[in-house]
Amino acid sequence: MTVLDGIRTVTGHIGYPPSWDCEACGEPWPCPNFQTIPPDRLTTSTLIPVMAFLLSRAIKDLRGRPEGPEPPEIVQRFVWFLPLSDDEARAIALRLR
Ligand SMILES: [Zn+2]
Repeated sequence: MTVLDGIRTVTGHIGYPPSWDCEACGEPWPCPNFQTIPPDRLTTSTLIPVMAFLLSRAIKDLRGRPEGPEPPEIVQRFVWFLPLSDDEARAIALRLR
């Protein structure tokens, strides 16, 4: 996915489908290192369209795994920078499935 290749070039931290684990850290992506990249390098206005684009694919890949996250948790993980309530995350997940 070219969007992901772009993020990889800019940040060095990327997780590809279907595992969505960070290549550099092995953590679930967006990994803690990615999330601490300062806003002057990775702005919210950049992140929102990218994460919205990736979320439905990530939900399809990750939901229903034995130890896997539930769709609302996947929403929270990919848009960690927005203050979403559990109800809002659930509503977003329902629209993306
Ligand atoms: Zn990482």
